[in-house]
Amino acid sequence: MNFSQLLVDNIDTITKNWVEAVRFDRQISSADDLPGSAIQDHLPDVLMAMATVLSQSHDRDIQSIVQNSLEHGVLRAAQGFAPTEIAREYRLLRQVIFSTLEADLVEGTVREVMRVYGVIDATIDEAIAQCFKSYVEERFQEIQQLRSSAELTNQELTRLLKANQENVSQLAHELKTPLNSIIGYSELILRSSRKNPEVKDTVPHLEHIERVVRNGRQLLRLINDALEISRYEAGKMKLHPVPTDVRSLIDDVFQMLHPLAAVKELQMVVDCERAPEKVLTDPLRLQQIVTNLVSNAIRYTESGSVKLTCQMLFDNQWSIAASDTGIGIAPEDQLRVFDPFFRADNSGTRVPDSTGLGLAIVSQLVKLMQGKIEVVSLLGVGSTFTVTLPLEVKTPAS
Ligand code: ADP
Repeated sequence: MNFSQLLVDNIDTITKNWVEAVRFDRQISSADDLPGSAIQDHLPDVLMAMATVLSQSHDRDIQSIVQNSLEHGVLRAAQGFAPTEIAREYRLLRQVIFSTLEADLVEGTVREVMRVYGVIDATIDEAIAQCFKSYVEERFQEIQQLRSSAELTNQELTRLLKANQENVSQLAHELKTPLNSIIGYSELILRSSRKNPEVKDTVPHLEHIERVVRNGRQLLRLINDALEISRYEAGKMKLHPVPTDVRSLIDDVFQMLHPLAAVKELQMVVDCERAPEKVLTDPLRLQQIVTNLVSNAIRYTESGSVKLTCQMLFDNQWSIAASDTGIGIAPEDQLRVFDPFFRADNSGTRVPDSTGLGLAIVSQLVKLMQGKIEVVSLLGVGSTFTVTLPLEVKTPAS
């Protein structure tokens, strides 16, 4: 029996079944929003190379599996896959190949079947090893980038520590958690690869690297948010008003945040029917305000909807309101949510990327733009944050 030809004949079926298996697998959530072509990636080429190896042993085809799998690892790193998800997609591939060929395999001799199993297993093992190798390299590069960005912002942080005594101990406390995690896990990675170089690319090892990257990102977010506040407090934040199309700005923000809401199956609604045509404002700062409010609405809502309403008011004012059907905020916390580092203890579970700085930045920006922000909220029912702004912001010069 020609198993090599059999595999070639089934490449389309195996590819299609595997893409579906990966997409519907509950343990590979990173693939949920990817198109079929992005999941499929290099698979038909790997299967083709596998078929050639089955027909005769060909070094060149092993080489092509190596190359394809290296590229696959880079792609999966960029798509945000976790190492366990990659291990899982290869497991599914093994299952899909064998279940597609099963009926024909039972027709072969024991010797033939053993050979087919051996070649397919070895090829997939090689593919996993290569894929993890390039994945790790990508992640290491990111860790290096994180380190150099952290070094760059470090100087500004020193200035912040000098200038802003009040929040210093709070900030130090906030920075310590991700920093300790980065230090701890980097040490673990280094120690285990020194002791045991051949287990370098195992799943637990990769998970440690993931933690370093995740905490590094959180640390940078904290530092950048803290710097933003210090810039405002030092009077360095300037507005650059230009005529701005509010509706398209809101659409952009919604499109950007849509994937976050889609993961939780939240309904996203925009009501801009009564919005002003144009306002004179700083579009970057306005976008920052809207992004913060809408992303909070999504982060603190588990089911239901997030709505953004924008409308003209009297007295050359206009407003933008972000409402959600989320966990809500207790009355005693409603004013404090605008304080730097304040996080309400209302959810029982804290959202992972919380810094307690988003609303502090929003309220300072709103003040700078000569507006005001208000919150109406009911625990367990939802919250509405309303920002009221002038149609034309003034700069000191104007
Ligand atoms: P972060 O969300 O990063 O903690 P913020 O300054 O944006 O920081 O928010 C401060 C706190 O206000 C949050 O920790 C949360 O407890 C509460 N909060 C903000 N927005 C909402 C919302 N839409 N629904 C419920 N609670 C919210």
